[in-house]
Amino acid sequence: MFERYFKIILDSFSGYYHYLVSEISNPSWGNYFYWLLALSFLVLALEIILPCRRGQKIFRKGFWLDAFYVFFNFFLFSLIGYNAISNVGVELFNDFLGLFGIENIIAFEVQSFPAWLQLLIMFVISDFIQWNVHIQLHKQPWLWKFHKVHHSVQEMGFAAQFRFHFMETIFYKSAQYIPLAMIGFGIEQFIVVHMFALFVGHLNHANLSWDYGFLGYIFNNPKMHIWHHAKALPEKHPYGMNFGLTLSLWDYLFKTAYIPKEGKDIELGFDGVENYPQDFLAQTKAPFKRGKI
Ligand SMILES: [Zn+2]
Ligand SMILES: [Zn+2]
Repeated sequence: MFERYFKIILDSFSGYYHYLVSEISNPSWGNYFYWLLALSFLVLALEIILPCRRGQKIFRKGFWLDAFYVFFNFFLFSLIGYNAISNVGVELFNDFLGLFGIENIIAFEVQSFPAWLQLLIMFVISDFIQWNVHIQLHKQPWLWKFHKVHHSVQEMGFAAQFRFHFMETIFYKSAQYIPLAMIGFGIEQFIVVHMFALFVGHLNHANLSWDYGFLGYIFNNPKMHIWHHAKALPEKHPYGMNFGLTLSLWDYLFKTAYIPKEGKDIELGFDGVENYPQDFLAQTKAPFKRGKI
């Protein structure tokens, strides 16, 4: 029994190692690695050409730390480590259902829908789940300890999107798994949704002052997300505001949107951010420590 789980872990690691090597050596339109590079350089170029904080250096405070987080969270953890864990999780979950004689939990088949509609449904549902999880990351003190890593950014730039504790991947993906499994998605073009979210996320954190006009009520944007990182919180929003990931719609619908003025020069972080560790290992360990950090 345990050997089976162990084998899944080993297979996932070796499978993803080979996957990673072949990704890097075979550029193609379905290649995550080159999409990440291309979108990162595109947004970096926009930051250089159209910066909203003109005094901010291109290689701002924390840039290299964030660049490491991009590598760690996008590849090492998300594609390799997390898959090993989640394949076991899925197996455990299916075994658990098997105890009750249930073979799958598909309650609603969307496989007969056209691919674009399946992608759209999946994107909207998973974004809404993420919005809810993000609020909990701010409200629950034990979750906030992990989420503080993301809010420790003091000078904002696109790569800050990936500064987050690896446990966040677990929180987000676990919350998404069951509802998405119940809908029975059968498509493989997830990369489209994934890369779109990555692009919008890069832009949200970029040194740009865009709000996309009326589309800003649907899509999250740099002008809105900078307020999510504000150090001083308004009385009306004691846990924070603008929790949207890719969509800003939920914040407008549920009254957690807040953009009082141009926020490009506001102070970022949280109380005590000056004393928060500024390197990867210390930030990774911080939430597991007792005490105030
Ligand atoms: Zn947050
Ligand atoms: Zn952010």
